[in-house]
Amino acid sequence: MNASSRATKGRSAFSPREKSASETHSEGLAEEEPPGETDTFDNFDEEPPGRTATDRNRFFGHIPDSAWNDWRWHFRNRINTVDGLANFIPLSSEERAQLKLVTLKYPLAVTPYYLSLMNLSDPDDPIKKQAIPSILEITMGMVGQEDPLDEKGDSVVPGLVHRYPDRVLIVLTNICPMFCRHCTRKREWRSGGWVRTPAEVEAMLDYIRQHKSIRDVIISGGDPLTLSTPRLEGVISRIRAIKHVEIIRIGTRFPVVLPQRIDDELCAMLSRYSPIWLNTHFNHHHEITPEAAVACDRLLRSGVPVNNQSVLLRGVNDSVAAQLRLCHGLLRIKVRPYYLFQCDEVQGTEHLRTPVETGVNIIEGLRGHTSGLAVPTFVIDLPQGGGKVPLQPNYVVARKRGELLLRNYEERLFRYRNPKVPAELGPVTEPSSGVGNSDGRLLVETGV
Ligand code: SF4
Repeated sequence: MNASSRATKGRSAFSPREKSASETHSEGLAEEEPPGETDTFDNFDEEPPGRTATDRNRFFGHIPDSAWNDWRWHFRNRINTVDGLANFIPLSSEERAQLKLVTLKYPLAVTPYYLSLMNLSDPDDPIKKQAIPSILEITMGMVGQEDPLDEKGDSVVPGLVHRYPDRVLIVLTNICPMFCRHCTRKREWRSGGWVRTPAEVEAMLDYIRQHKSIRDVIISGGDPLTLSTPRLEGVISRIRAIKHVEIIRIGTRFPVVLPQRIDDELCAMLSRYSPIWLNTHFNHHHEITPEAAVACDRLLRSGVPVNNQSVLLRGVNDSVAAQLRLCHGLLRIKVRPYYLFQCDEVQGTEHLRTPVETGVNIIEGLRGHTSGLAVPTFVIDLPQGGGKVPLQPNYVVARKRGELLLRNYEERLFRYRNPKVPAELGPVTEPSSGVGNSDGRLLVETGV
């Protein structure tokens, strides 16, 4: 059986329309990256936001716009079985068997919209890697931990994590529009879909009311935007009524995997409870589509700033060129690249993790080579709830009292006079041990 006949066998209600694999492939090629791409800036071509458009027509051309533009249609029609996936992606019987094994432990769910972004003929497609299960999730599945950040340990009431003094995380649901293969909360996928009960929500709100140090509430999941807008408003309005809560943040991947969710009703609701910030999760520039751009623009026009928290993933975005395209694409849709996370050491994700040095080298390849707005902060979220630690290249070559030797992005060295604090302004502070090389080399020792 050839690839196209496998792909069109056993169609569902919204199965692919007739198109050969070669047609599909050639369509994809029109948007392929130029040959000879390297990790340098020399061959870098800017691209407009997104590919030319989402490649909806490949499989979903027969779906009316009214359904395609309705996030609930996508949610109802998520592809969540291996047999359903085989309607779109050519799978051998061995691959089907393997994926069924994986999904017993780590289920599958992908929206039609996100599937339409995939280049199905490319085995290394970065969109596929984030959504399609891999046998490596279980063959390497003993590496890592179920809950490396110890979120359970920091849960002071069910669903509320209080780790830092002035902010809390509340988890309203474990339901997501898509199961991202690198998710930190993969452990939650097996517990079926749940949404916090009114009593559980009230207990979380009570905790926030009683702790006046909490000025920042992060609503996360699962994905909180899976809740209906009125239900979400019921929670947000009560958080906003707590005087000491200054800002509310929403963590959601909807702008990336189902941007149709960012509709007028949602935006109007969010604008009533300002200031609300929204953190989303683009990982690759192919995700920055016209639909995603519209969603982010709607949020911004409603007074909701949008920041991006990407995860560094092997074969998806682990190069300077990939990050540059991503970050430039984000800025073009007015989304600030905020964090680049080292992928947490979660069981079932080891095949997607990269050495820490990869992230540091990427930041070094961005800093100075492009505007600072396009450079996210690379962070490791420490195990056992240790919190986030930023990592960056060391630009301090040496130091001695009164002077630093700094290197710039071109590897040129510069002396920098370090101002002394006049005695009359108070006690002189010794240079922090955080400045300079960890081995404490002085300028005189390096001969400069
Ligand atoms: S949307 Fe977020 S919480 Fe849900 S599976 Fe993806 S990464 Fe995990």
